[in-house]
Order: sequence, then C-alpha cells, then structure tokens
Amino acid sequence: MVKVGIVGLTGCSGCQCEILNCQDALLKLLTLVDFALFPLAKDGEFDGELDLLFVEGSVSTFLDKEKLLKLREKAKILVAVGSCACYGGVQAQRNDEAELEQMIREVYGKWELPFELFKPSPLSDFVEVDYFLPGCPVDKKQFVYTVASLLNGVKPFFPKLPVCHECKLSENECLLLKGVPCQGPVSYAGCGAPCTAKGVGCQGCRGDCDFPNHQEMLSLLTQRGLSYEDAVKFLKVFRGNSFKVRGLNEKGA
Ligand code: SF4
Ligand code: SF4
Repeated sequence: MVKVGIVGLTGCSGCQCEILNCQDALLKLLTLVDFALFPLAKDGEFDGELDLLFVEGSVSTFLDKEKLLKLREKAKILVAVGSCACYGGVQAQRNDEAELEQMIREVYGKWELPFELFKPSPLSDFVEVDYFLPGCPVDKKQFVYTVASLLNGVKPFFPKLPVCHECKLSENECLLLKGVPCQGPVSYAGCGAPCTAKGVGCQGCRGDCDFPNHQEMLSLLTQRGLSYEDAVKFLKVFRGNSFKVRGLNEKGA
C-alpha cells in the first residue's frame, strides 16, 4: 500500500485540520493509502520510507530544519502544503524589516529562548520540493486532487490564474470597484474566491498568480484610500519573502 506522511513544522496546524475535514474523500483515501505518519491524527512512530509526504508549516527552528532534512531523505515525493510551507507564511511577512534578535525581543521581551530559531522560511530554502499547494489553509479539493493525481502517476497541475478569474465566474460584484481593498488581481486562484463572495476583499492567502503587477496593485489600493505603507503591508501579509516590487520604498507608486 502507498505510504503517506502528513507532518507539520512551525504553523497553526490549520492545513492538517483542513485535510482531516476532507471527510468522505479521506475515508475513500483510507482504502487506498496507508497514512503511515500523521501525528495530528494518529498515535505511533513511523521511521520508514514514504511514497508521498505532505509538509505544513514554515522552517523556523533548528528542530524544524533537522526534521525536514530527515523526512526529505525518506520521501519519494514531497508536497509543501499551505502558505507557510510554500512562502514562509504570515510569520515571514516582516523578515526583511528587522533583525531576528530585534523581532524576538519585540515578541518575547527577551532574546534568550529555550530553543534555537531563525527567520521563518519556506521549505524550498532547505530541500527540494516537488509540488506546492499554497493557501491559508490549503484548499481541500486541491489536496484530494493532488493525492488522486499522484496515485495515478499524473503530475498535479493548477494554473496560476488571478482570483479575479474565479470571482467573475461566480458573478460576484467587484469589491475593488466599490472601494474595498482586494488583492484578487495579483493573487493565485484555486480557492473559488470564497472571500469576495462574502463581501471580504481577497487577502492574497495563496500568494501570487502568474505575472502579478504589484506596482499597479499598490496604485489601485492607494486610490482606494490605503496609505502606500499600509498597501505594502497588506500585500506582504502572506507573501513574506517572496514579495518584491520595484521602487518599494518610493512613496506614491
Ligand atoms: S472583488 Fe476582487 S477578486 Fe473579485 S473581481 Fe474585484 S478585484 Fe477581482
Ligand atoms: S479569495 Fe483570496 S484570501 Fe480568500 S481564500 Fe482565495 S486567495 Fe485566499
């Protein structure tokens, strides 16, 4: 039977909970695969080879790094699950703004901690990642589709269209045109645009679509009343280290 591992590094475990929420699909998967390593869902140790490994969370401690390197050696295919694993996550959003010590002192009030850590980073900074499934949390359908594809020897493929594409297919009224800050034009679709359907602007939790125009997005956001600094912070929430824009420090893009 195909051996599957699902593990978490630094994160909220929300993606693993979302996988558990797959319910019927998960029950079917149980007849096809052996979830050999899934600490959130089952007891016991497993130290053998894995056919498929899903890793959630960012690499933020030396323990995370050690665990990841060890697991990579045992896994034939590694999938980064969720935006922490893919981009560093929310915890990486200010990585380029301060030194680690300054951030630790700000959060914990001291520098000395009982564990060694570094700035939150995506898995791909340390190991080869075969597939990326971003999202906060990961999309259940995409997780199931990925497992089904890989079990059938097919490479999972998700086109990096903007969220606006799915938002328009759902016939939602455009929030950006109504003055609500929304990152749909530069964010990676695949979620079905649930936020805009509820009247909340896209927060970009799945990272960038292909060819994102951050400069123009910043311009649209400032036209909707955000200061340039707040617009930059808004775009950086889930993009962390991956957010790059020419003239980032210039006011009034
Ligand atoms: S509401 Fe947002 S995602 Fe939907 S069309 Fe407008 S800008 Fe795009
Ligand atoms: S609409 Fe935006 S914030 Fe909401 S789930 Fe999709 S990518 Fe994430």
